[in-house]
Amino acid sequence: MSDFPTTARVVIIGGGVVGVSTLYHLAKMGWTDCVLLEKNELSAGSTWHAAGNCPNFAPNWAVMNMQRYSLEMYRTLADDVDYPMNYHVTGALRLAHTKERMQEFERVAGMARYQGLEIDILTPEQMKEYYPFLETHDLAGGLWDPLDGDIDPAQLTQAMAKGARDLGANIQRFCPATGVTQDGDGWIVHTEKGDIACDYVVNAAGYYAGRVGEWFKPFGGRTVPMTVMSHQYFLTDEIPEIAEWTKEHGKKLPMIRDVDSSYYLRQDKNGLNLGPYERNCKAHWITKDDPMPEDFSFQLFPDDLERLEWYIEDAMERVPLLGTAGVGRNINGPIPYAPDGLPMIGPMPGVKNAFEAHSFTFGIVQGGGAGKVMAEWITEGVTEWDMWAVDPRRYTDYTDAQYCLDKALETYGHEYGMHFPWKEWPAGRDKKLSACDAKIREVGGQMGAYNGWERANWFAKEGDDTSIEATETWNRTGPWEVRVKEEVEAVRDGVGVLDLCGFSRFALSGEGAALRGVTTHTPRGARTATRAPADASAHWAPERPWRSHRG
Ligand SMILES: Cc1cc2nc3c(=O)[nH]c(=O)nc-3n(C[C@H](O)[C@H](O)[C@H](O)COP(=O)(O)OP(=O)(O)OC[C@H]3O[C@@H](n4cnc5c(N)ncnc54)[C@H](O)[C@@H]3O)c2cc1C
Repeated sequence: MSDFPTTARVVIIGGGVVGVSTLYHLAKMGWTDCVLLEKNELSAGSTWHAAGNCPNFAPNWAVMNMQRYSLEMYRTLADDVDYPMNYHVTGALRLAHTKERMQEFERVAGMARYQGLEIDILTPEQMKEYYPFLETHDLAGGLWDPLDGDIDPAQLTQAMAKGARDLGANIQRFCPATGVTQDGDGWIVHTEKGDIACDYVVNAAGYYAGRVGEWFKPFGGRTVPMTVMSHQYFLTDEIPEIAEWTKEHGKKLPMIRDVDSSYYLRQDKNGLNLGPYERNCKAHWITKDDPMPEDFSFQLFPDDLERLEWYIEDAMERVPLLGTAGVGRNINGPIPYAPDGLPMIGPMPGVKNAFEAHSFTFGIVQGGGAGKVMAEWITEGVTEWDMWAVDPRRYTDYTDAQYCLDKALETYGHEYGMHFPWKEWPAGRDKKLSACDAKIREVGGQMGAYNGWERANWFAKEGDDTSIEATETWNRTGPWEVRVKEEVEAVRDGVGVLDLCGFSRFALSGEGAALRGVTTHTPRGARTATRAPADASAHWAPERPWRSHRG
């Protein structure tokens, strides 16, 4: 009799680090009747070629929680599941070129301390003590995370797979899912080896998540907003000074992230590994003449080191030892990007009992935490941490292919960029405009994007500094301050009208629908407003309440 499973509580599509971690966590929570389908060998997608860097640092609470949890879990995983693996906890330095970068580090260090992490702010002199080969003369300072390090991504995946199997979960390798059919509240997942009936299904198909997402469209799903980028790192030959330092100290050098120049540099064996996030980045599989292959298992894109030239030269000035070694091997692999560069973890928008865990740009470090979050979503319907930042439902229908591409290029090129609270990023704009948009801009509206909608953040007057550079500050004050004060005073002492587009409006038509406004007066008579009557049968039906930029 075939041992192919025909039923399961959960079927996970995709055997990368994220899918396997989800299976492992479900099994640890007692849901062992679960199946993972992998079309090739485990880790055949983005996972096998990842550099395996594992920081705690994240500018966002949800992501830091996931990464912190992953690192805690990885430190004991080998023993927990009895699967030895390479995990080097080397510590890492983040370099700051500016005062603003130091402020970002202070902010993240505060958040980290609140999560129980010991992250230190360093002077350039202190950094030199950690990393003697580093040029520090032009630095403002840095950040030290003692628990940063690097792990072997394939071994990590295999370790979690062993843990899941030992608990009774089922992994089917070389078994592509080929489609899904809704079956009452559950699903039938089709494979080349047969069908599996299940209660829940998870799309963890990595850079193929868009394709798998298409299968859910007949059941309420949407086009998955993601783009596949190419990301490279290269390994140098051995560097004698590094070999000597390692021998003398009995450990590896810490990792360096020069975030203002946009690359990481870490020791790999006795050489170096340089991985830039270049501004002149490249997306793949978006045009007809570059179609996404049916299968890309264990494959890479051709080397494209020219794109990295500026970064290599910059890194050679920062750590001159880098210039003394030849390039041994280059890795150029596919990496999925959601428009904001954060993963999608949670319920599939519009589809019952289906979940998503994909579009990871840092899936190795986030994989452990993501598996915990997914398992909580599925088994309990809630997560321990607030995960809105990575919830797939944060995107709605404005995320067309051009938007996804524009944002992916912007986000990748600024992977280490600072996310100042007042800064509005320029790519992917004007997706949804209110009926008053032209008027608002005419009177100086400085626009921000909110779930695709353009909304005025403040109103500038002639001569005000409206440049992006003016918003690159952590301070509350800026050119907007005086105008916001004027506006607040105007509303306090007189009357104001606010166009808050982006909230729900309903255009109702048909018999009984009418515009029947009533006028109300505040006690002091200072403001008047027109509102629809409470009578549910008669509704507010404004003419052309909004328009999409695309018509
Ligand atoms: C050069 C490079 C370096 C990187 N370095 C780092 C790093 O240092 N640290 C870090 O955290 N991240 C790094 N990443 C990112 C990391 O590799 C990914 O975020 C991570 O591997 C994503 O894991 P995943 O499980 O979501 O996807 P994947 O590993 O792509 O797994 C998805 C799996 O789904 C399978 N699949 C697809 N369709 C089907 C189907 N129909 N049926 C069954 N199976 C299917 C695929 O075969 C694949 O194995 C790097 C990426 C690149 C390209």
